Amino acid sequence: MTEVLVSIAFAAITLPLMEVWARFLHGRVWHGVLFGIHESHHRERKGRFEANDVLSVTHAPIAAALVIAGCIMHGITGAVLRGTGVGMTLFGVAYVVVHDGLVHGRLPVQRLARFRFLRRVRGAHRVHHRTGGAPYGLFAGPSELARSRRDGRGHGDIAPAASRAAQRTLAEAPSAPRASR
Ligand SMILES: [Zn+2]
Ligand SMILES: [Zn+2]
Repeated sequence: MTEVLVSIAFAAITLPLMEVWARFLHGRVWHGVLFGIHESHHRERKGRFEANDVLSVTHAPIAAALVIAGCIMHGITGAVLRGTGVGMTLFGVAYVVVHDGLVHGRLPVQRLARFRFLRRVRGAHRVHHRTGGAPYGLFAGPSELARSRRDGRGHGDIAPAASRAAQRTLAEAPSAPRASR
């Protein structure tokens, strides 16, 4: 029983931490050194997939490995690994459903728009696609956007110089960001 509670606790802790981690990666890395790949997500998609999908699936094998290792190992260590892996998996599924499905229309989940919070998440992410700047987080996007506007920082506090250059590139790009759909 204790192990189950430990797993649930670690899954619950992992969920918000993954949002923080995803925001950091998106702002610092995807809009930094890996913008050459992430850029495909900010342009009109031709076909079913985009190069950026490679970045989207990077955490899936890590989460799967944690769950498998947690199932093999016994005791609290196994419970911690299982919980962390399950938390990462839940975040990944929620991210795909809301970001790729609701925001970008790649999955038939538009009924989720009846939830006010998810409409706000969608609106905040569309701002990111219009400007190339903040918010970089997804579920915390609305609060990040409000914070950056309040502080007068249109591009967010974690955007590196490379990202600001990327924002200029996007602003000058002839094709409209597809998130405006
Ligand atoms: Zn997007
Ligand atoms: Zn982006």
